[in-house]
Amino acid sequence: MVQWYKNNQRLFREEREALAARFPLMQLILAKPEFKMNSEFSLKSECAVAYGTYELNVPGMCQEIDYKISVLFPEKYSKNPPTMYCNDEKLPMYNIDRHILKNGYACLGVQAEIRQKWPQGSLIVDFIENIIEPFLAWQAYYDEFQKVPPWGERSHFPDGILEYYAELLQLSESGLIKDFMTLLARKNNPKGHEFCPCQSGKRLRHCHRELIDNVRKIINWEVVGLDLKQINSFESKK
Ligand SMILES: [Zn+2]
Repeated sequence: MVQWYKNNQRLFREEREALAARFPLMQLILAKPEFKMNSEFSLKSECAVAYGTYELNVPGMCQEIDYKISVLFPEKYSKNPPTMYCNDEKLPMYNIDRHILKNGYACLGVQAEIRQKWPQGSLIVDFIENIIEPFLAWQAYYDEFQKVPPWGERSHFPDGILEYYAELLQLSESGLIKDFMTLLARKNNPKGHEFCPCQSGKRLRHCHRELIDNVRKIINWEVVGLDLKQINSFESKK
């Protein structure tokens, strides 16, 4: 597999310039193997990383606050979204209640929802502003007031993922939601003669075909796969 920046050096330069212009305390680099994303986690191979200090204003707090963060670009950027690792003493490294997992990995939300807030063609600066900033604002508020901020959150994983897909698919039963997700996570469009995952006993073409087609138009199958994997990995730990 070839890293995205080898095939698209123009995008790499564009990303780097936009980051330097909007967030001067952060920088985009090609990080070597062993690069420390934080005290717990080092890279195994060369990757593009945006790291540094992010300053933000939090509703209800008068002072600006800053956090050190490390943002990892996936190999298949920007088809797949980046991931964020906390790198700041103010944030706990492994605390499910804070949506921070092993290695300081930040649970930024449901993959499909991230994709909606960060559509194809967006830059890393947009990811930081639209996805990471709300996460950090939540953390700062929680630390300051010892409670969840009034602007709310989704339930913890995997329930938050199921909530999102429940709304999207207009379904409530988690088993059915997962069956639909399994179908949506397939690379190839399901065939009309297959049985519909809603368990009506009807063929897809006489049942939820249109819904499946519409969802596949807005959410990439690989993204659904990531969400499904997330749910399954949590359930296997129970
Ligand atoms: Zn159906």
